[in-house]
This record gives sequence, C-alpha cells and structure tokens, in this order.
Amino acid sequence: MRNVFSYAIRNTQYEIRPTLNLKLETFPLTDTHAHLYWDRFDKDRDAVIARCTDFNVKRILIPGTTVKTSLASVKLAESHPNLFAAIGIHPTDALEWADETKDELRKLVATRPDRFSKPVRPQLHSKIVAIGEIGLDYYWDRAPHEIQKRVLQEQLSLAEELELPVVLHLREKGDAPEGDCAVDLLEMLSKWVASLRSRAHSLATNPGALHSFSGTITAAEKAIQLGFMIGVTGPITFKKASKRREIIASLPMEKILIETDSPFLTPHPKRGKRNEPANVRFIAEKIAEIHGKETREIAAITTANAARLFNW
Ligand SMILES: [Zn+2]
Repeated sequence: MRNVFSYAIRNTQYEIRPTLNLKLETFPLTDTHAHLYWDRFDKDRDAVIARCTDFNVKRILIPGTTVKTSLASVKLAESHPNLFAAIGIHPTDALEWADETKDELRKLVATRPDRFSKPVRPQLHSKIVAIGEIGLDYYWDRAPHEIQKRVLQEQLSLAEELELPVVLHLREKGDAPEGDCAVDLLEMLSKWVASLRSRAHSLATNPGALHSFSGTITAAEKAIQLGFMIGVTGPITFKKASKRREIIASLPMEKILIETDSPFLTPHPKRGKRNEPANVRFIAEKIAEIHGKETREIAAITTANAARLFNW
C-alpha cells in the first residue's frame, strides 16, 4: 500500500495526500476525456463541474474535435482550475482540414495569460496539455482513409513541434475488435515513435494515449511497447464486456488511464443517462475489482499516470 502512495506523490505536483481516513472520496480521481462543451451540458454545466468537486475529480481533460470545439475546450479550461484542454481535428471531421488549420491550432497554443499554473514551457498556453482528439475512424468513414491519415500525420507533427502528447481515437468498421483501422494507426504510430526515439525527442517516452480502447490485447500491447497509455471507459462496467475486462486485467497498471468520454459511454449503474466526469469513479471501482486492488489505489495510480503524461 505504501508503495502506491509514494509512487503517486513522486509523479505529481498536486494534492495527492492520503488522509488517515482512507475513503474513496478523499482520493483524487482524474477524467482524461470529457467533451464538456457539448450542448447537452448547456443547461447545467456549472452543476456538472461542481459535482466533480463533490466526487474529488481533480483533473479533467476536455478534447476538441474541430477548430471550433478546440477553442471551446480552451475557453472552458481557462474558466476553471481543474479543467484542461486538448486541441485537434477528429478523424470524422478530417474533411474540415484546410491549409490554414495547422496554423489555427498552433495559434491557440501560443502564449496566453497564465492564470492558473506555471507552464512547463513558458511560451505555451498553460492549460493546453495535448493534441487531440485525433486518429482514424473507419466506423463512420466520413472521410477517405488517405485523407484521415494525412490529417493525422499533420497533427502528429504539430504535437512533435509543440512537445505535447497526443490523444488518439481509433474505431473499426462495424465496431469490430480488430481490423484495418488498428493496423493503419499502429503502423503510423510505430514510424512516428521510431523517429521520436531516434532523435531523443521529449515525447519519445510518453507520446500519448489511445482513448476509449476497445481493441485486442495484441494491439494494446503493441501500443504500450510504443510508450502509449490505454484509456478505459464506461463499457468496461457492462455485463457483457468480459472480453474488455480480460484485456484490462492483463495490462500494466502504470499504463492505464480512466476516462468518461462524457456525454457518451455512461457506465453502469448510470447507463442510459447522460455521462459526466463525476461518474469516473464507477470505472475506477471496476478496474479495482478486475485487478484485485482497492479503488483508492486505482484512483491514485491513474491520477499519477495522467499527471505524468499531461504534465499537469
Ligand atoms: Zn472523445
């Protein structure tokens, strides 16, 4: 037990302070993926964010999917100390990519008033911590694969230039557990990471995360070998998700992130309702059950993992 706590403390600059009364509520949780700018939060966004405090969700990453929603993520991140932004073009919006898009994204990251914390790199916006969500989507197939790949490649190079990790989306045709999407994505990531490593680039050790992972153990292991973390979402709590649980059980804890993907993928027992970051605790509880650990340990480890990846 002591090892878990010291591990968490070593890797974060923030309040991971185990108290004598070790209740889950006293432990910080992190939600590494929540689309809080969605209109489904328009009526009660402040209440949703307040509930995060109630359930001790200390850090929430809001990923953009277009230039417009990336800007919305940044605005939200600037409005509250616990919120952080990722900016990028989602593969289902790949056709939005134009010559000036990269520059528009780059400008968002350029110096802004530093209101909450010391930026790791002073010339960058302190609340923008990743490029995402970006990736490949062969489920909706809204853009030809070649275009999706080109848009992804442009954003990998932007991440590299800005030294920000990437948050990756991967969805197979027909939601199959394996297929061309994972093959193509992992091929691109292998080349990218090889190139980062050859230059000892700062992203070489922690290049990013595969968000809401639903693929095979082979794909997860390959991604981990490349240095990526694996994002676990609500479906792991569903009755019929034994395959997903088996995969998560075999992954090293220091590579796991927990995320809600709000407003989607609501975990049991809230399934059917709109999802929100406060529900991240149900995912932590399920992972604890799978790994035979205490929920508070999972909270501490995944919070430390996120802090290590996003430098917050
Ligand atoms: Zn998402």
